[in-house]
Amino acid sequence: MTNKENSLKDAPLTLTSDNYYGSESAWKYLSVSQYKDFMKCEAAALAKLKGDWKPTSDPTALLVGNYVHSFFESQEAHEKFKEENKDSMFSKRKPYGLLKAFKVAEDMIERIKDEKMFKLLWRGEPEHIVTGDLYGVEWKGRIDLLNVEKGYFVDLKTTAQLDKRFWSNKYGTYVSFVEDYGYVLQIAVYEKLLELEFGKPFKGYIYAVTKQDPPDIAGIDIEAHKREFELEQLERSIEHVVNIKNGIDKPSNCGTCEYCRGNKELNGFISTDQLLER
Ligand SMILES: [Zn+2]
Repeated sequence: MTNKENSLKDAPLTLTSDNYYGSESAWKYLSVSQYKDFMKCEAAALAKLKGDWKPTSDPTALLVGNYVHSFFESQEAHEKFKEENKDSMFSKRKPYGLLKAFKVAEDMIERIKDEKMFKLLWRGEPEHIVTGDLYGVEWKGRIDLLNVEKGYFVDLKTTAQLDKRFWSNKYGTYVSFVEDYGYVLQIAVYEKLLELEFGKPFKGYIYAVTKQDPPDIAGIDIEAHKREFELEQLERSIEHVVNIKNGIDKPSNCGTCEYCRGNKELNGFISTDQLLER
């Protein structure tokens, strides 16, 4: 680890919406998404953290999610988002106008903003930043909607469709987008962090809305055994993740991800069976 990385890690840092996603915050705190990066591929996660490598991402998909989130954060946040991202939101070729992806985002907002259960749930503080020590590590999290008084929070998720199936090696079966995207762990960690902050238990829910026409909706309560399973896995693997971040453990290459494919060096032959073992 370089001196710069060391000094970033040791300096105190108060998180705000402006520095939450910054490099300093990423070194100082572990987030669920960073942890998920390390579980997918340690080498890629570390390269991303060091700024040596950036994954290719679909900027529109990310913006669409943020567009919907900003609407439910506040009118001010939504106007600011639209102003800052107008170049990405409108077509530069014929037919001019709002890009299809953002029309879909508008449909999603329309579908849920007056929906009975959503209106009942969406009462509290939007975009609450939480930090705390879990399993000996400083964590950070951003909660879409927090109701301290009633002891619950809601995470708003935009997804392709509710019943899409994903194969999971971890679960040894097909799972839904909730398990596949690591949302079980996210909810479980946020529950723990909020309990530390407020000294009382919290319950986390997912409110999901799909990109279908018309959008599908669901309020999701994750089974307790799944939250416990994810926390047990986390507890077992967290020390290694922290050690990689601190330069103590060497990161391993998964061998198949975007980063590994781009940085691969061959040193021998493999059999045809090994092609499928990865
Ligand atoms: Zn990899």
